[in-house]
Amino acid sequence: MHLKEHAPFPWQMSLWASLSEQFESHKLAHAYLITGSRGIGKHSFATEFARLILCSAPDKNVACGVCSSCAMGGESGHPDLVEIAIEEGSKLLKIDQIRDLIEFLSQTSHGGRAKCAVISDAHRIHVAAANALLKTLEEPTQNTYLFLISDMPGTLLTTIRSRCQKILMPVPDSAEAVAWLKQHLPDQDDPYLLAHAAQNCPLLALDLAQSGGLENQQQFLQKFLALSCGDASIQATVGLIGKLGEVPVIGYLREVSSILIKYLLLNQQTSEMQPEQLSLLTLLRSKGLDSRDKLVELMAFYVQVQEAQRQLSSGTNPNAQLIVESLLWHWSQLLNSGRTT
Ligand SMILES: [Zn+2]
Repeated sequence: MHLKEHAPFPWQMSLWASLSEQFESHKLAHAYLITGSRGIGKHSFATEFARLILCSAPDKNVACGVCSSCAMGGESGHPDLVEIAIEEGSKLLKIDQIRDLIEFLSQTSHGGRAKCAVISDAHRIHVAAANALLKTLEEPTQNTYLFLISDMPGTLLTTIRSRCQKILMPVPDSAEAVAWLKQHLPDQDDPYLLAHAAQNCPLLALDLAQSGGLENQQQFLQKFLALSCGDASIQATVGLIGKLGEVPVIGYLREVSSILIKYLLLNQQTSEMQPEQLSLLTLLRSKGLDSRDKLVELMAFYVQVQEAQRQLSSGTNPNAQLIVESLLWHWSQLLNSGRTT
């Protein structure tokens, strides 16, 4: 990417300004929990803000990039900034990683300013690791700043959540997301469709476009629509999902069900929706699933999808195919329980 690909992104500006103000007036909290949708730059926000904290001569509230402290952060990263993420082949943050973090925080800072840590997917932490982290949160070392990142904070231990100051990262509106995508993907045929497929999460949209995920999502939506209309069997749908991968598909399913619920609740019709989503919306309405009782069932389905997503990303090894099959079965039941047309 030749364009600026790091925070603060346009939709993060006011949040950045208010946090910078806390920083300038020495009122930063010891630990922040940054939450919000996937693909809106939470991680980039945290690491860039950490760079600002470590910079000795900030320029208009961003790290200057040239001072002696900024210069320490070369290819191998800044020695006073540690980034913790789930290791390849592992499903959870491990106790050893948190022990290393505690060790890192106890050392003196190289630049003489502070020590910062960014912890990705904080909700996917091993219980022993969570307890170790909790200790650090309870007894903070001076001039250390932790940024925990999570798009599923509800599954994070309450004790950890309550020790962090919460930041909810905003999602840009449709116009802002499209404008950003046009700038970053000038060759993209339909930035509106792309933004919509990613629910206006620009970095997710970028990822969808570059990984071929958009086509996969379309394929799934078409099959899901066919299943909903009774034109495809659960088995055929499961077959396609096996090819696309259960984990991304649960993500698509979560997106489409949240969009449908949103529009049924607000009783809106929109031209912004993808054609398959629009057809699904019409189908659900024709079956009377926009009634209060049925909306409650739809929301219960959405909760099941969320739970399935949590199970699939947990450390245990659930039977992904079985989980997906059961969700599709529930979906079919839900549709068949509506009035027939
Ligand atoms: Zn600097």
